[in-house]
Amino acid sequence: MIIMETSATPEQIAHVIEEIERHELRADVSRGEFRSIIGLVGDERKIPFDSFAILPGVKEVMRVERPYKLVSREYGRFFENPHKYRKIKVGNVTIGGSEPIFIAGPCAVESKTQLFRIAKEVKKAGAHILRGGIFKPRSSVHSFQGLGAINRERAEESLNWLRQAGDMYEMPVITEVRGEAHVDLMADYVDILQIGARNMYDQDLLTKVARKKKPVLLKRHFGASIEELLSFAEYIAAEGNKDIVLCERGILPLGKGREYTRYTLDLAAIPAIQKETYLPIIADPSHGTGRRDLIFNMSCAAIAAGAVGLMIEAHYDPTEALVDAKQAITSDELKETINACQKIHKLMQSSTTKTKATPDEKVKG
Ligand code: PEP
Ligand code: MN
Repeated sequence: MIIMETSATPEQIAHVIEEIERHELRADVSRGEFRSIIGLVGDERKIPFDSFAILPGVKEVMRVERPYKLVSREYGRFFENPHKYRKIKVGNVTIGGSEPIFIAGPCAVESKTQLFRIAKEVKKAGAHILRGGIFKPRSSVHSFQGLGAINRERAEESLNWLRQAGDMYEMPVITEVRGEAHVDLMADYVDILQIGARNMYDQDLLTKVARKKKPVLLKRHFGASIEELLSFAEYIAAEGNKDIVLCERGILPLGKGREYTRYTLDLAAIPAIQKETYLPIIADPSHGTGRRDLIFNMSCAAIAAGAVGLMIEAHYDPTEALVDAKQAITSDELKETINACQKIHKLMQSSTTKTKATPDEKVKG
């Protein structure tokens, strides 16, 4: 990364960018309160660092030896609060702000009536953002694939319901973009584009979604390391879109663990990730456990671990849900969960010994 002098002129910054591009790399320019900082996108070994260090307006050139740079706290400390998270604004909701944010709704949009009823109920329960799958990732081709999979008309119709339900109950909306072919369509209707766990590694999808310049929710693949999650978030940031929300949704359980829970919600990953990146992280206890009777406890635990929000599947008649029936909760349960989480969040805010969202000593400048 290239740290510019506080007195650097726009021409000097433009010259540095030109030099970066001449070496076939791309520049990520961020303006902090006092100075500009330029991140390099591409193979840094092509850059003669010594000659960059003496360009007019350059204060310092630093090599960042890790696969994710643009999303790291080390880089972000120049333009984000080094102790907090990036605030991501979606309509009237701020993810990463002072209050925890709750995303709720059905696993899959099943009908207009189903969606509007759930939207009304989750709003009343205290949810801020409405979720609903239009294209569902399913393990069997014989299972319900979501209304969007029927045909283009049904996809647009159900996306329209999602938009209308969000507008009616004043909640921004989120849905999963399962493939590159859906990106343009989805971006016309929704406020946040969700990348599902199975697609975390799809760099072309990430790039295409990032270019829509809308907030992106990136779910951690159930086999992915923290470094991989952050490295794939970097693909989104590399397109100039840093409005990325990370989501811990459970990793593959070991041995007999899988007889009891669908996945293992990796709670320790939450504060560990917060030390590495300024991007806010939420948790999904629904997919993380696969069991409605565990949602309340794991929601509380995720907020205590430092999650800035939760994504929870809700249904008025959970057992009737076409997808993920075992993990959906009612709006009454959602309300209780949100209330408890808000109390825990307050308690955590006032605690001084909690894990600090600051970079490790080794990256402090
Ligand atoms: C979902 O949120 O609808 C979903 C399918 O989750 P995941 O990608 O985490 O499995
Ligand atoms: Mn689901």
